[in-house]
Amino acid sequence: MQDQVLQEWVERVSLQYFGLPFRHRASFNGRLKSTGGRYFTKTHDIEISPHQLRNFGEEETEKIIKHELCHYHLHLLKRGYNHRDDDFKQLLAKVGGTRYCKALPAGEKRKAEPYRFKLQCRSCGMEYMRKRRVDPRRYACGKCRGQLVLFQLDFASKT
Ligand SMILES: [Zn+2]
Ligand SMILES: [Zn+2]
Repeated sequence: MQDQVLQEWVERVSLQYFGLPFRHRASFNGRLKSTGGRYFTKTHDIEISPHQLRNFGEEETEKIIKHELCHYHLHLLKRGYNHRDDDFKQLLAKVGGTRYCKALPAGEKRKAEPYRFKLQCRSCGMEYMRKRRVDPRRYACGKCRGQLVLFQLDFASKT
């Protein structure tokens, strides 16, 4: 995914969940490994870890985006934008963001298992992500009832 796509994604989430525009820059930073995202108080920019997206998908990444946008909007509104502040806790709960910048606190690591397999429909190309190996012959495409093929996703070879 390109930075431009992320930028548009953050702008969309900002308007949809916060009712306010995101007017700064959002980009991926591959060096972010232990955190899912970061907000910079000096520049008001947001960085998101591409590892987060690759391992945990768009749903989890959107929760990180919401978390960083809570810092962003509260900071600009001169409200409590730190994790310990009530303003922050309340807004985060309201928009459904993840509680941690640190994407994977030790206890949650096991629950947040990455998608390792993908089922793809031979007819319409629809993709279904799976965490465990499944027998594709036991399933049909939910969209067109077509035949599915199983792929193993290889994270290590991606850059
Ligand atoms: Zn945070
Ligand atoms: Zn299909």
